[in-house]
Amino acid sequence: MNPGGTSFTTRRDAAILIVDDAPDNLSVLRKLMVEQGYQTFVANSGERALDIARRVLPDLILLDVIMPGMDGFETCRQLKANPVTQSIPVLFMSARNGQDDVVQGFELGAVDYISKPLRMAEVCARVRTQLQIRYATESQQEQAERLRTIVNNMAEGLLIIEPDGRIQFTNPACDSYLGYMAHELAGKSISDLLNPLVAQEYLEYFSRYTASPETAHSHGTREVIIRHRTGKSVCMDLTLTPMFLRQPLFIGLLHDITHHKMSEDALQRAAMIDPLTKIANRRHFDSFLEKEWQRAMRNGSALSLVVLDVDHFKLYNDTLGHAAGDVCLQQVAQAISTHALRVTDLAARYGGEEFVLLFAETEADSAYLLAESIRSHVESLQLPHPKSPTSAWITVSIGVATMHPQPSDNIETLFVAADRAMYVAKEGGRNQVRATRHDSRTAIRA
Ligand code: GH3
Ligand code: MG
Ligand code: MG
Repeated sequence: MNPGGTSFTTRRDAAILIVDDAPDNLSVLRKLMVEQGYQTFVANSGERALDIARRVLPDLILLDVIMPGMDGFETCRQLKANPVTQSIPVLFMSARNGQDDVVQGFELGAVDYISKPLRMAEVCARVRTQLQIRYATESQQEQAERLRTIVNNMAEGLLIIEPDGRIQFTNPACDSYLGYMAHELAGKSISDLLNPLVAQEYLEYFSRYTASPETAHSHGTREVIIRHRTGKSVCMDLTLTPMFLRQPLFIGLLHDITHHKMSEDALQRAAMIDPLTKIANRRHFDSFLEKEWQRAMRNGSALSLVVLDVDHFKLYNDTLGHAAGDVCLQQVAQAISTHALRVTDLAARYGGEEFVLLFAETEADSAYLLAESIRSHVESLQLPHPKSPTSAWITVSIGVATMHPQPSDNIETLFVAADRAMYVAKEGGRNQVRATRHDSRTAIRA
């Protein structure tokens, strides 16, 4: 092992504190340690030793047991009682090497007990060994600390999951994504977070992996709906990776994709809306109509389509300018959309100055009345149209068609019928409603 990337034999900067009341011992040991390349500090009493240890924080202390005043055992006790010095390894050196002394030395927290008279090669070997252990421990602690910092600060939520679905650990990001306090999720099951089908799928994957880890693959990333503590659903990417740490475990990484979802939803909404008038666009209307058509066919109910065209709008633009024309279209769209009241109604801008409305489960008579109220609503806006040959205000011509769709019919027929009715309204002098009732059984009447 080579912790920290530094070989111990080349690591010469270790600081050793040597404590002995006999000056001869001190100088012999000091010489020996210097020869080994260590930096040395010496103390001839327990009190001095405590003082130096606190200030220079040596990597190791060689501590004589028998000293006048504070002896080695008491010195060790005090070193271990002080958080600053308690992790410094202490090696006792003593001529008192009866079993009780040695045991007491270890009980006080010493890492080794060397008998006097000292054999110098042995002292060197023991010091080297203890320094190696100390560096290895330090570097493990450093690595663990580094990992802890990463896990605690990463933006992704991290979960460690046991094969039975029990959550063993979550990091702070995971807790806060899901609205939990620290450690609150540990012990819960993933079934508490995921919908039952998805949870079941994961549990099956866990047991497959546990049964034969060598054949199972990483589960990869998928989008999941996770239950927030409040009960609200949040959309997240979950990446699941198996690992084997004495037992099979699974690492889940949660990545919040709510903001992506939001922009995705916004894009989807935008694709359905006409940018000028902010009501539904033609694409949305067509797919809506398709669904309602199928539903009307299944239920044998009536479907009414209203087609509406602004009268003399080219003239309006020519007179007041294109920008005024845009504003006028917005006002007309606004008025029209207030008549689509039910969820199965929809008003849309179908193109240019042409609008459409769909009224599901609406018979011809009601559709005609609705169309008439739309026509009078637009007229009542009293948007001046100075050059119009037919009215002082902006008006609309409306065609209405109603069908009970049959399998042999198609949507085009409904459109043609409504358009024809609308042109009849134009020819009839504009600012009026005309209706067609079309059924495969009856002919078009306009
Ligand atoms: P009619 O009463 O027979 O419907 O006459 P009209 O002038 O309304 O019919 P026509 O189809 O000849 O003209 C439609 C006009 O609508 C022409 C076009 O410039 C204008 N138009 C279409 N889309 C827009 C738009 O988004 N903004 C503006 N300002 N004008 C538009
Ligand atoms: Mg037109
Ligand atoms: Mg027009």
